[in-house]
Amino acid sequence: MNTADLTIVETRGGFAERAAQLGEAVRTNYAVTVALFDNRRALLDTAQGKQVLANVRARYLKRCADVIPYMVAFAKGVGTSLDDIIEVNVLVMLCKSRLAECTGFAITRDARTVVGQNWDTGESAAPMAVLEIGRDGYGPDTARFTSALTLDFWAGINPHGLATGGCSGPSGDPIGTGAGVTGTLWRGPVFYRCTDVDDVKELVASIPVPGKGFNTVYVDAHDRMLWTQQGGGRFGTAVPETPYCAATGYRPAMNEPRTPKEQAARNRWRRFMHLAEQASHSDHDLVETVKAILADHHVTDGHPDSAPCRHDGPENSTQFSLVFDLTSRNVHYCGQPCRNEWRRIKL
Ligand SMILES: [Zn+2]
Repeated sequence: MNTADLTIVETRGGFAERAAQLGEAVRTNYAVTVALFDNRRALLDTAQGKQVLANVRARYLKRCADVIPYMVAFAKGVGTSLDDIIEVNVLVMLCKSRLAECTGFAITRDARTVVGQNWDTGESAAPMAVLEIGRDGYGPDTARFTSALTLDFWAGINPHGLATGGCSGPSGDPIGTGAGVTGTLWRGPVFYRCTDVDDVKELVASIPVPGKGFNTVYVDAHDRMLWTQQGGGRFGTAVPETPYCAATGYRPAMNEPRTPKEQAARNRWRRFMHLAEQASHSDHDLVETVKAILADHHVTDGHPDSAPCRHDGPENSTQFSLVFDLTSRNVHYCGQPCRNEWRRIKL
């Protein structure tokens, strides 16, 4: 059972300084995470591995050039090189890892906007997770729920007030020729570069994500929402018609669910949407309501992956939950949301 040992790092200064501080602070997390994939390293020496690596290197260095100085600073902090970090991220993609089939969702009610995130990787991958609170940068404070493997942006609030939460896609996403950038590396530019949902839409269309992708909900400082679905070199985007939206492994903009696991991801999406619909009419405190939704245990059709909180799941058990209150600028975090006490950080 996870008892809320989430690694929290407070960084200060400009982006490069913060990246270096974060790298230094997560050295142990990085080593533990890399070790999870060490026995699969031979995948990098296959023809497909070499091709994907060459593609990712070329595209990342070219299309994400603005992020490279921060990646280099982060790598230095960790005690490795940018090239090593790119390699590990490609390896994770080649493993078609089943890790992390989380849920992110956003809801707006009475001029208040909140993003909730459940992070479901199973216990072995829990050390990957890091919450960075960035202060005294070039703009407002930031909160970035990220991976110790890279300067990712799984969930949180960026310097422009753009908030996000989401999940990874099914491991069946084809790698194909591997033309694009791994999902983990793709989200770095969102943190540094995107000011609103229009920027995200442009990034989705311009940089493909091969292999296992991800689905994400974004909400910007103007309370505009966007739901994106990416993976296997394909993508779909949707602007929700409701003042709430959830992202699970369900991808109606790309394909209909076929396997029982995909159907469970759809049912989990339906459960979140149902609870969010109720919450949108309720007088109950919105943050407390979102916390309760993240801890909900309703199972559909007997499949454990259909429940919002999957604390006992064999593969994708919920390890951490986070709530980002964009209006009061508070970050609430917790281990398994039904078993641990919530704590709060003010941005
Ligand atoms: Zn639970």
